[in-house]
Amino acid sequence: MQYIAPLAKLVEQFRRLPGVGPKSAARMAYHILKMDKEQAQALAQAVLEAKEKIHYCSVCFNLTDCDPCQTCSSEGRDHKLICVVEEPKDVVAMERTKEYHGLYHVLHGVLSPLDGIGPEELKLKELISRVKENVEEVIVATNPDVEGEATAMYIAKLLKPLGIKVTRIAHGLPMGGDLEYADEVTLSKALENRREI
Ligand SMILES: [Zn+2]
Repeated sequence: MQYIAPLAKLVEQFRRLPGVGPKSAARMAYHILKMDKEQAQALAQAVLEAKEKIHYCSVCFNLTDCDPCQTCSSEGRDHKLICVVEEPKDVVAMERTKEYHGLYHVLHGVLSPLDGIGPEELKLKELISRVKENVEEVIVATNPDVEGEATAMYIAKLLKPLGIKVTRIAHGLPMGGDLEYADEVTLSKALENRREI
Protein backbone atom coordinates (compact mmCIF):
# COMPACT_ATOMS: atom_id res chain seq x y z
CA MET A 1 0.00 0.00 0.00
CA GLN A 2 1.28 3.43 -0.95
CA TYR A 3 1.09 6.29 1.56
CA ILE A 4 1.92 9.90 0.88
CA ALA A 5 5.41 10.59 2.17
CA PRO A 6 4.74 12.19 5.62
CA LEU A 7 2.18 9.50 6.43
CA ALA A 8 4.54 6.75 5.31
CA LYS A 9 7.14 8.20 7.65
CA LEU A 10 4.74 8.16 10.59
CA VAL A 11 3.62 4.59 9.86
CA GLU A 12 7.24 3.53 9.65
CA GLN A 13 7.97 5.02 13.10
CA PHE A 14 5.08 3.15 14.68
CA ARG A 15 6.15 -0.09 13.04
CA ARG A 16 9.41 0.13 14.93
CA LEU A 17 7.52 -0.21 18.22
CA PRO A 18 7.31 -3.69 19.79
CA GLY A 19 4.24 -5.72 18.89
CA VAL A 20 3.03 -3.26 16.24
CA GLY A 21 2.28 -4.74 12.83
CA PRO A 22 1.58 -2.82 9.62
CA LYS A 23 -2.18 -2.59 10.22
CA SER A 24 -1.88 -1.28 13.78
CA ALA A 25 0.81 1.16 12.68
CA ALA A 26 -1.49 2.53 9.97
CA ARG A 27 -4.39 2.76 12.43
CA MET A 28 -2.31 4.80 14.86
CA ALA A 29 -1.00 7.06 12.14
CA TYR A 30 -4.50 7.78 10.84
CA HIS A 31 -5.64 8.42 14.39
CA ILE A 32 -2.94 11.03 14.82
CA LEU A 33 -4.04 12.76 11.62
CA LYS A 34 -7.50 13.10 13.11
CA MET A 35 -6.20 14.65 16.34
CA ASP A 36 -6.27 18.39 16.77
CA LYS A 37 -2.90 20.09 16.75
CA GLU A 38 -2.71 20.49 20.55
CA GLN A 39 -3.26 16.79 21.12
CA ALA A 40 -0.60 15.86 18.59
CA GLN A 41 1.78 18.32 20.18
CA ALA A 42 1.10 16.90 23.65
CA LEU A 43 1.92 13.42 22.36
CA ALA A 44 5.15 14.52 20.71
CA GLN A 45 6.07 16.52 23.81
CA ALA A 46 5.45 13.56 26.13
CA VAL A 47 7.76 11.38 24.01
CA LEU A 48 10.54 13.97 24.09
CA GLU A 49 10.09 14.80 27.76
CA ALA A 50 10.24 11.14 28.77
CA LYS A 51 13.45 10.75 26.81
CA GLU A 52 14.98 13.88 28.29
CA LYS A 53 13.97 13.50 31.92
CA ILE A 54 14.10 9.77 32.52
CA HIS A 55 17.40 8.03 33.05
CA TYR A 56 18.76 5.16 35.13
CA CYS A 57 19.27 5.49 38.87
CA SER A 58 23.01 5.33 39.55
CA VAL A 59 22.39 2.96 42.48
CA CYS A 60 19.68 0.48 41.43
CA PHE A 61 19.51 1.16 37.64
CA ASN A 62 15.76 1.48 37.66
CA LEU A 63 14.21 4.28 35.61
CA THR A 64 14.03 7.58 37.45
CA ASP A 65 13.76 11.32 37.00
CA CYS A 66 15.93 12.03 40.03
CA ASP A 67 19.18 10.46 41.21
CA PRO A 68 19.28 8.41 43.39
CA CYS A 69 15.71 7.35 42.66
CA GLN A 70 12.90 7.78 45.18
CA THR A 71 13.09 4.15 46.29
CA CYS A 72 16.85 4.21 46.87
CA SER A 73 16.64 7.42 48.89
CA SER A 74 13.54 6.45 50.88
CA GLU A 75 14.03 6.05 54.62
CA GLY A 76 10.84 4.03 54.84
CA ARG A 77 12.46 1.23 52.84
CA ASP A 78 14.47 -1.67 54.23
CA HIS A 79 17.97 -0.97 52.96
CA LYS A 80 19.24 -4.38 54.09
CA LEU A 81 17.08 -6.13 51.50
CA ILE A 82 17.66 -6.01 47.74
CA CYS A 83 15.38 -7.59 45.16
CA VAL A 84 17.16 -8.34 41.88
CA VAL A 85 15.00 -8.14 38.75
CA GLU A 86 15.64 -8.30 35.02
CA GLU A 87 13.99 -5.12 33.79
CA PRO A 88 12.41 -1.91 35.13
CA LYS A 89 8.93 -3.26 34.33
CA ASP A 90 9.55 -6.04 36.88
CA VAL A 91 9.97 -3.41 39.60
CA VAL A 92 6.50 -2.15 38.72
CA ALA A 93 5.16 -5.72 39.03
CA MET A 94 6.78 -6.17 42.45
CA GLU A 95 5.52 -2.80 43.67
CA ARG A 96 1.99 -3.77 42.68
CA THR A 97 2.05 -6.52 45.34
CA LYS A 98 2.55 -3.85 48.06
CA GLU A 99 4.26 -6.63 50.04
CA TYR A 100 7.83 -5.74 49.33
CA HIS A 101 9.52 -2.91 51.19
CA GLY A 102 13.18 -3.39 50.39
CA LEU A 103 15.29 -1.92 47.60
CA TYR A 104 15.76 -3.13 44.02
CA HIS A 105 18.57 -3.83 41.61
CA VAL A 106 17.79 -3.96 37.89
CA LEU A 107 20.15 -6.20 35.91
CA HIS A 108 19.00 -5.03 32.47
CA GLY A 109 18.85 -8.53 31.06
CA VAL A 110 19.72 -12.10 31.99
CA LEU A 111 22.66 -14.33 31.20
CA SER A 112 22.15 -15.73 27.73
CA PRO A 113 25.32 -17.14 26.20
CA LEU A 114 23.58 -17.87 22.88
CA ASP A 115 22.71 -14.19 22.51
CA GLY A 116 26.18 -13.16 23.61
CA ILE A 117 24.99 -11.81 26.96
CA GLY A 118 27.52 -12.62 29.64
CA PRO A 119 28.05 -11.28 33.18
CA GLU A 120 29.78 -8.18 31.83
CA GLU A 121 26.64 -7.09 30.00
CA LEU A 122 24.56 -7.08 33.19
CA LYS A 123 24.74 -4.77 36.22
CA LEU A 124 26.43 -7.46 38.31
CA LYS A 125 29.62 -5.64 39.31
CA GLU A 126 27.38 -2.87 40.60
CA LEU A 127 25.33 -5.38 42.57
CA ILE A 128 28.46 -6.78 44.22
CA SER A 129 29.60 -3.36 45.36
CA ARG A 130 26.13 -2.59 46.71
CA VAL A 131 25.83 -5.73 48.82
CA LYS A 132 29.09 -4.94 50.56
CA GLU A 133 27.31 -2.07 52.27
CA ASN A 134 25.32 -3.64 55.09
CA VAL A 135 22.98 -5.77 52.97
CA GLU A 136 21.60 -8.93 54.60
CA GLU A 137 19.53 -10.57 51.92
CA VAL A 138 19.34 -10.53 48.16
CA ILE A 139 16.10 -11.88 46.68
CA VAL A 140 16.56 -12.99 43.08
CA ALA A 141 13.32 -12.35 41.19
CA THR A 142 14.46 -13.06 37.65
CA ASN A 143 11.80 -14.71 35.48
CA PRO A 144 11.15 -18.44 35.97
CA ASP A 145 12.68 -19.56 32.68
CA VAL A 146 16.00 -21.17 31.74
CA GLU A 147 17.95 -17.91 31.54
CA GLY A 148 16.34 -16.54 34.69
CA GLU A 149 17.25 -19.67 36.66
CA ALA A 150 20.82 -19.72 35.35
CA THR A 151 21.21 -16.06 36.28
CA ALA A 152 19.85 -16.72 39.78
CA MET A 153 22.37 -19.51 40.29
CA TYR A 154 25.18 -17.32 39.02
CA ILE A 155 24.23 -14.53 41.43
CA ALA A 156 24.08 -16.99 44.34
CA LYS A 157 27.59 -18.19 43.49
CA LEU A 158 28.85 -14.60 43.36
CA LEU A 159 27.26 -13.37 46.57
CA LYS A 160 27.33 -16.30 48.98
CA PRO A 161 31.10 -16.12 49.52
CA LEU A 162 30.48 -12.53 50.69
CA GLY A 163 28.26 -13.83 53.50
CA ILE A 164 25.03 -12.63 51.91
CA LYS A 165 21.85 -14.65 52.18
CA VAL A 166 20.60 -15.22 48.63
CA THR A 167 17.00 -16.31 48.12
CA ARG A 168 14.93 -17.12 45.06
CA ILE A 169 11.24 -16.30 44.75
CA ALA A 170 9.13 -19.46 44.85
CA HIS A 171 7.56 -21.13 41.89
CA GLY A 172 3.94 -20.30 42.26
CA LEU A 173 4.87 -18.51 39.06
CA PRO A 174 4.30 -20.57 35.92
CA MET A 175 7.56 -21.85 34.42
CA GLY A 176 8.49 -19.80 31.39
CA GLY A 177 6.13 -17.08 32.62
CA ASP A 178 6.93 -13.45 32.97
CA LEU A 179 6.97 -11.55 36.26
CA GLU A 180 5.27 -8.70 34.48
CA TYR A 181 2.15 -10.76 33.81
CA ALA A 182 1.88 -12.47 37.19
CA ASP A 183 -1.06 -11.28 39.25
CA GLU A 184 -0.40 -9.58 42.60
CA VAL A 185 -1.49 -12.57 44.71
CA THR A 186 0.72 -15.06 42.86
CA LEU A 187 3.67 -12.72 43.04
CA SER A 188 3.10 -11.98 46.75
CA LYS A 189 3.01 -15.72 47.45
CA ALA A 190 6.14 -16.28 45.38
CA LEU A 191 7.88 -13.59 47.41
CA GLU A 192 6.64 -14.92 50.74
CA ASN A 193 7.70 -18.49 49.93
CA ARG A 194 11.15 -17.59 48.68
CA ARG A 195 13.86 -20.13 49.38
CA GLU A 196 17.54 -19.81 50.07
CA ILE A 197 19.73 -20.88 47.16
ZN1 LIG B 1 17.50 3.63 42.67
